[in-house]
Amino acid sequence: MSRITQRACLISLGCKANQYEIQFLREKLEETGYQSVPFPQKAEVYIINTCWVTKAAESKSKKLIRQALRSSPGAFFVVTGCYAQAEKEEIRRQFPQVDLIVKNSEKLRIVELLGISSKTTNFGIRRFYQHDRAFVKVEDGCNQFCSYCCIPYVRGSQIRSRSSRSILSEIKNLVNTGFKEIVLTGINLGLYGRDLSVSEDLIGLLKKIESLPGQWRLRLSSLEPHLVPAELPEFLANSNRICPHLHLPLQSGDEEILKRMGRRYTVSRYGRLVEKFRKRTSSLAISTDVIVGFPGEEERHFNNTYHFIENMEFSRLHVFRFSSRPGTLAYQMRPRVPERITKRRSRQLKDLGEKLSQQFISRFLNHHLTVLFEQKAERETGWLSGYTENYIRVTASGEEGLKGKLIPVKLVKREGNLALGEIIQ
Ligand code: SF4
Repeated sequence: MSRITQRACLISLGCKANQYEIQFLREKLEETGYQSVPFPQKAEVYIINTCWVTKAAESKSKKLIRQALRSSPGAFFVVTGCYAQAEKEEIRRQFPQVDLIVKNSEKLRIVELLGISSKTTNFGIRRFYQHDRAFVKVEDGCNQFCSYCCIPYVRGSQIRSRSSRSILSEIKNLVNTGFKEIVLTGINLGLYGRDLSVSEDLIGLLKKIESLPGQWRLRLSSLEPHLVPAELPEFLANSNRICPHLHLPLQSGDEEILKRMGRRYTVSRYGRLVEKFRKRTSSLAISTDVIVGFPGEEERHFNNTYHFIENMEFSRLHVFRFSSRPGTLAYQMRPRVPERITKRRSRQLKDLGEKLSQQFISRFLNHHLTVLFEQKAERETGWLSGYTENYIRVTASGEEGLKGKLIPVKLVKREGNLALGEIIQ
């Protein structure tokens, strides 16, 4: 490929790991002189990082490819990510204009595959395009094989943990660039260090991160309940760095369904885990994911899920309708739940989720929390918005200059799923 080409448009769907990887590629391309342009502008190179986790994600991936092909005819098109990994032949057939389809294991080498020589040997990022928080990926792969999940097939079932040295140097660079929040992420973060390719486990890594200097905070992304390190409740309670916010995917509040899902914990164990954290950290936000309409989910199973969630005081609930993924165990499972029932259950849980979020916000009215105000354009001038350490969305009147900074705020009122705050001078 010729060095005359100047603009690159990189776009990603899906998880935080995907977002991290696209940023990694963006920086590599920029280092070689490319200018990164927003989607869907005209560019000489297009890299589309896709997702395949649900049917909806697959459709979105196709739509994105179509949009990109339309907006920049003649560009060099690269498609990568989990949809590319799972459905290479389909992409070839449906989108013959795509020049290169790259599997996940080769993704970070795309710049070299394009024939562009990159000078860096440094594995890491320094910025995060259009983000106020930077995601740092510390692990790849999952060997848990939950019956509904395609991740072990498309991301690989071998766990690959990054060395703490490279993680720490990346975090230092991001903090030096000015990032005030780092989100530690992985395909399955709780598996960090369990491949024995690195010498420490997740707690060992957290201890090292904790000791880095500067005024910034660390957020943990999703942790599978059965992989939460036993020391974490204590560690989190004593940490000055880690945000009191955990995302612990529940998926179902019914023992039978959890078993069919191949999840390796029970509902009661999940409840005890949450208790352990809450006893030590009272401001803790716990958010979760739940799947409705899993094959064989009857009304009684759904009711168990509903009531369990109702009692858990989650701060946020992400509701997913079961999506059958070819190649997974659940793909063959019967009976399938009719779509109208799945939709109704999803609606019921979403309503419950709203109520729980609002209750959570109300608990913190008149409390002083710290908000990272965002760089994004606001609807009204003079108003800023951002998230607290326990992930409450706050809006407050304040100067532009406060964006990208950690600012103490008093929460004064709840408006829907948002808190109104007053900046403490
Ligand atoms: S733990 Fe289960 S749900 Fe999570 S990525 Fe692994 S297989 Fe998928």
